[in-house]
Amino acid sequence: MSSPPMPQPSIFHRLGVKPVINACGIYTDLGGSILSPQVWAAMTEVNASFVSLPDLLDRTGELIARLVGAQAARVTPGAAAAIALGVGACMTGGDGEKMERLPDTSGMSGEVVLQRNQRLRWKYTRCAAMPGARIVDAGDPRGTTREQLDAALSAHPAAVLVPAHLDAVDGTLPLAEIIAAARRQGVPVVVDAAFLNFPPERMRSFTAAGADLVCFSAKYFWGPNAGGFICGRADLIAAVAAIDFTRFESGRYRVFGRPFKMDRHTIVATALALAEWLAMDHHARLDTYVRQVRRLAELLGEIPGLVSSAKYFTMDEAFEDEPVNCLHLRFTPLARRSAADVATVLAAGDPSIQVIVEGDQLAVVMETVREGDERLIAERLRDALL
Ligand SMILES: *Cc1c(COP(=O)(O)O)cnc(C)c1O
Repeated sequence: MSSPPMPQPSIFHRLGVKPVINACGIYTDLGGSILSPQVWAAMTEVNASFVSLPDLLDRTGELIARLVGAQAARVTPGAAAAIALGVGACMTGGDGEKMERLPDTSGMSGEVVLQRNQRLRWKYTRCAAMPGARIVDAGDPRGTTREQLDAALSAHPAAVLVPAHLDAVDGTLPLAEIIAAARRQGVPVVVDAAFLNFPPERMRSFTAAGADLVCFSAKYFWGPNAGGFICGRADLIAAVAAIDFTRFESGRYRVFGRPFKMDRHTIVATALALAEWLAMDHHARLDTYVRQVRRLAELLGEIPGLVSSAKYFTMDEAFEDEPVNCLHLRFTPLARRSAADVATVLAAGDPSIQVIVEGDQLAVVMETVREGDERLIAERLRDALL
């Protein structure tokens, strides 16, 4: 990412926090991603005037729906909020009294089904339960059978949830089978596809396969850390709109979604960042990482005890070969310090440099490193290791 150099002393210093060179990738706790100059300019422009947020949400929702080929869509304050609001929408179907009653689910279906082996790996189960839903397991430690899924669905839960990045782990049934079985029982399928946005066409694939609601996080498409959207069936998106933060004061019901609030800047930035992501030259984006990895390797030179290679650090935190986005350093016993110690030293400096560490491996992930910062990273790595 290229952006203006960090001014010194920075606002962060004035506030008593150290700026970070983020060589970990896109993480909420480090601020998500960097907004493009165009998206940033749009946020500045919309800051100059007010707008009806219900209208803005309706229009940006229509734009996003067109962009991802869904019937309807709505911006939410992140994918985690999209999951909570989506489940709330499935439980209440836009009924005002029910929306007001949540998280008390009396008088409605308060259960959502999740395959057991996905539930245990999916931290956002917590967010699905937030509107009051009781999570019902389909399956057991060996996986989920068709019979177990059908039994869970036949109790008419409000929804079945699928974290799509965990599709078919450990004996679980694939998304296509969940959709087919849920269709037969008339149960909506809600998909967490938070980071499944590449290649960009992939974003359309979940609704195209028949998922009823799909949740995406804007942090993964260079939108705001506090942005995201939900897309899918028009009637369910209308129920999301009914339960979200708007019209709380002016409407008839004190609905559940009021704390999931957004600024007009975030709403606009989410829609525009998505449009940019879909039109982006991703070859050029990936080439930048290759260049940065090569540059860092050159600047580092030979360091005793370090074996370096270009790798891909995936969104689910595994190392693969392609497409390259990081410099991977393996520490042998000849290294002066362990990978964990080096990471601690890098983090303690100013600016703090945050890297990925796993056992004897350290990775510098370039997706969130500004071009040019490789020099400082190399200096600090060499200082720690030579
Ligand atoms: C980041 C993430 C979320 C939450 O997205 P936010 O936009 O940060 O709320 C949900 N699911 C997965 C798999 C994620 O990686």
